[in-house]
Amino acid sequence: MADFVMAIAGELVAGDASFEVVNPATGEAFEAAPECSAAQLDQALHAATEAWPRWRAATDERREALRACSRVLTRDVDEIAALITAEQGKPLAQARGEVLFGSQWFDYYAELPWPEETVRHAGGTTVKVQRQSLGPVAAIVPWNFPVGSACMKLAPALLAGNPVVLKPSASTPLSMLHVGELLNPVLPAGVLAVVSGGAGLGAKMSSHPDVRKVTLTGSIPVGMKVAGAAAADLKRVTLELGGNDPAFVLRGADVEAAAAALAEMSFRNCGQICNAPKRIFVDESLHDAFVEALVARVRAFRVGDPTEPSTEVGPVSTIAQRDHVEELVTAARDAGARVVAGGERLPGDGSYYRPAVVIDARPEMSIVAEEQFGPALPVMAFDDLAVAVEQANGSRFGLGASVWTDDAELALETMEGLAAGSVWWNTHSELHPEVPMAGIKWSGVGVEHGTWGLESFLDLKVMWH
Ligand code: NAD
Repeated sequence: MADFVMAIAGELVAGDASFEVVNPATGEAFEAAPECSAAQLDQALHAATEAWPRWRAATDERREALRACSRVLTRDVDEIAALITAEQGKPLAQARGEVLFGSQWFDYYAELPWPEETVRHAGGTTVKVQRQSLGPVAAIVPWNFPVGSACMKLAPALLAGNPVVLKPSASTPLSMLHVGELLNPVLPAGVLAVVSGGAGLGAKMSSHPDVRKVTLTGSIPVGMKVAGAAAADLKRVTLELGGNDPAFVLRGADVEAAAAALAEMSFRNCGQICNAPKRIFVDESLHDAFVEALVARVRAFRVGDPTEPSTEVGPVSTIAQRDHVEELVTAARDAGARVVAGGERLPGDGSYYRPAVVIDARPEMSIVAEEQFGPALPVMAFDDLAVAVEQANGSRFGLGASVWTDDAELALETMEGLAAGSVWWNTHSELHPEVPMAGIKWSGVGVEHGTWGLESFLDLKVMWH
């Protein structure tokens, strides 16, 4: 076993205790991660508070540091990707893609102009609307993109002049601990700490008196806890939470192309993507042809060892998540839906589950109403588009949605009626550093990415000078 350490106050430190990390492809614990103690968290946040005045003043140095972070990720992409695959289960090529994708956030924010406006009020005086950093940020990320989701928070938070204490998920801590070690020489002491632990550590971070902002990517129940803890101390929050995105296959769709793209987008990363298509509504006139094409593609997926270059779908990231997906599929089958592709475990101790397509699903079934966050996709035929849109909108989730048709007018009209933070036409799940992403309803609070993402790490400073 390698010795994984935490970056705290510019030092690389072990924990007083440790916890096991399981490889989902084998079901075996293969490494241990340090458990961050309360005293170590205090130390990390004390160092962040000490580092803040210099960091927030070091405008050019911050941009140079972001460029250096990107170079480190690109240089060491292979070893970081190998850790992601080992602890999270995504195929190596996807893990490499995740690291390089994350590096784009550093590239983008390193060059983003600093926001500042002037306003002239009715009295004739001009005031400058400047920005100021917030102070130490607690960043808490999930297991589906352990490095990618961390980079998306680190780059704007650091450019804004805020030191960050970052916690990866307890099931995937190793890749970010390693990144923390790699970035430690690149950033001044105290500017970035990477600490590892579970829900208890996350709770301590979100209520810690030295933290001025909590940014979480995770589930809705955890988002509610974090919001409650932050509210008690008026900390700022950004919450990127769960999704249950509908995709609408409409009259005028290229059925083959839509089926191929939706299969790829719904089962990439084994379906564990917040804004993946998770419920398919298909015009009944297209239903049979669409299902035939979808099933052919899904059955052809090469499911297996994520370190094999030909593998397209690896194991589900945890046994608990595999069991959750399996329960939803079983409940749907018991309620009359038909599983027409996959839907069974692979032999062995890895948490593999063959990608499942579930047809004759209905909105009230848990596989449709809840977020499956895994390799199972329900399909529903509709004969009345307005009713289907109403059904799709009748959800607490509001992250993304898509429409699939070559009829531009029908596409736009349907997109306008869908209640989601992002709506796509003939694609889904697109994410770019420049483009804002904001879940509505219970899918989130606040915005990430682009200038909006930077603003979320800043307060205004109105200069009457
Ligand atoms: P999770 O909410 O269980 O955990 C997320 C993080 O929060 C982990 O680091 C966890 O240790 C920590 N945590 C747990 N309890 C906490 C508490 N009480 N206080 C503070 N932190 C706590 O989520 P997960 O299972 O790791 O990830 C899956 C979920 O994340 C899904 O719902 C998915 O949709 C969502 N997600 C959303 C986005 C988005 O951008 N909207 C992106 C990826 C994943």
